[in-house]
Amino acid sequence: MDIAQVGEEILATPATPVEAGYFSSLELTQFCDALLETMLRAEGIGIAAPQVFDPRAIMYVASRPNARYPDAPEMSPLLLINPTIVAQSEQLTKDWEGCLSVPGLRGKVSRPVWADVSYQDITGSRHEIKLEGFVARVFLHEYDHLIGKTWLDHIESASDIMANDVWMKKFGHSANKQ
Ligand SMILES: [Zn+2]
Repeated sequence: MDIAQVGEEILATPATPVEAGYFSSLELTQFCDALLETMLRAEGIGIAAPQVFDPRAIMYVASRPNARYPDAPEMSPLLLINPTIVAQSEQLTKDWEGCLSVPGLRGKVSRPVWADVSYQDITGSRHEIKLEGFVARVFLHEYDHLIGKTWLDHIESASDIMANDVWMKKFGHSANKQ
């Protein structure tokens, strides 16, 4: 699947909920599989449907260490359909993010430290989960894509933006240091 780049209308458009009748359908299952495959091929650690030109409220959170995120914690890919934020910490933490839709750049973004999230799985069953730390950051980043935002909307200062190559030189090999 092609990945929408910043400036595309769909990245600034709020997503539409997946309707009850579509859960467990072959179309939804195949779409979610293709979305995950697209994310893995691009070495992403999360992806949202609007990033592949699909307006539905579907995302993966899939933190794991790779060349783009050497220090990311490892988890099984989590599919979240129609996610909502139930609660989030008032305490914020600022850290670097990249985005498959904003190639070549990293941005330092303030996010809540944790978020309680409600979502539906592929069958439509609803779950609630507490996400913390870097995984909460990945979720909140992907959730932004479902409300028509990107990390660029959170930037407080131009000094919080770095070229990806410079970021990799400064921070990219820290996982190998110990
Ligand atoms: Zn993104």
